[in-house]
Amino acid sequence: MDERPIYLDNHATTRVDPRGVETMLPYFTNDYGNAGSVSHSLGHHAREVVDSSRESIAKAICTEPAEIVFTSGATESNNLAIRGVAERRRRRGDHLISVVTEHHAVLEPLQRLEKKGFKLTLLEVAHRGLTKAGWLDPQRVADAITDDTCLVSVMLANNEIGVVQPLAEIATLCREHGVLLHTDATQAVGKMSVDVRQLGVDLMSFSAHKMYGPKGVGALYVRSRDPIVRLDPLISGGGQERGRRSGTLNVPGIVGFARAVELCMEELHDETQRLAKFRNLLLERLSLQIEGLELCGPDLHEKDLEGRPIRLPGNLNIHIPGIDGEAILLRTPQIAASSGAACSSADPEPSHVLQALGYSSDEARCALRFGIGRYNTEEEVLLAAQQVSQAVADLRSGT
Ligand code: PMP
Repeated sequence: MDERPIYLDNHATTRVDPRGVETMLPYFTNDYGNAGSVSHSLGHHAREVVDSSRESIAKAICTEPAEIVFTSGATESNNLAIRGVAERRRRRGDHLISVVTEHHAVLEPLQRLEKKGFKLTLLEVAHRGLTKAGWLDPQRVADAITDDTCLVSVMLANNEIGVVQPLAEIATLCREHGVLLHTDATQAVGKMSVDVRQLGVDLMSFSAHKMYGPKGVGALYVRSRDPIVRLDPLISGGGQERGRRSGTLNVPGIVGFARAVELCMEELHDETQRLAKFRNLLLERLSLQIEGLELCGPDLHEKDLEGRPIRLPGNLNIHIPGIDGEAILLRTPQIAASSGAACSSADPEPSHVLQALGYSSDEARCALRFGIGRYNTEEEVLLAAQQVSQAVADLRSGT
């Protein structure tokens, strides 16, 4: 048997698709030019391939290449969007709005701004027990906006409970009030269709390594018209990316990012159905064998007003009363899943997302998150269900 565990942690990161690796390789060795070098063919070639990659990525989210700023990943994109816009627009207003269930890569920059004197409102979401648990009612955004609001930031899909927020409705509200809207779409791009124009957002962060691309490369979409969004750069220097993000471009990473996006788009329809089927099967098997198991987040079949699912297809998060998630994972070394937030396992705190849904901190420790992805098979899903159920039974019986 393969030594590697069954990988069910695809929200944390994904395996790079070998087809993407292949397209990247020449840009490490033969075509290693700096995309900023204008006086020789190696530089020109690098520039051309960055341009065509930018085009592919822009096309995938239905926008223009000039609106894509390459970054080192979604953490940087979130920081650039939030700090870049807030500092720039401070004179117009110093109130920021976001949501309690955001990723730390959004919450931390917001809290830093709060320390510098900005006002911050974090909105609540629907609690456990509701079919839309984790969902943000757009009315809460409308109620929170004041004349001083300069930016709203709401994630598109949550990295723990997979809930997809009603961004288009929120965007309409923001637009009516002349407030800019940023979305952290790191878990959404490549997993569901994301059309920036339809969503109506002004800034959007995403990252290659969540969609079978390489780590260390991401992008920020920045609206260039109606209205043009201006931001202060976090990193200044050589003026790359039209001055919005200086630094030599990561050409192999960008090439791999574009290929990853293309592959996700080509396979999106079938893959969505396959992942949802596996995810539903996993819950069905676990529920049959684990008494008291509770699904965390929205119901698997819950839809929005347009009939689209409000949960990512590959996401499952469960609460098992009285059984610590870490204890289960210690007994199942053949399974790579997560016991909570844990893209940052450096963070020992129980999930702030589950606590926002109404779980106590002790209850939030009794959870497991599964992220099913491209390389999982039905056999793996069944084996994982069996092993997790067995570990829970052993822990409950004290063996
Ligand atoms: N936002 C969300 C929703 C995420 O899941 C992650 C990754 N854990 C990030 C931001 C940070 O992305 P990156 O690793 O590309 O910095």
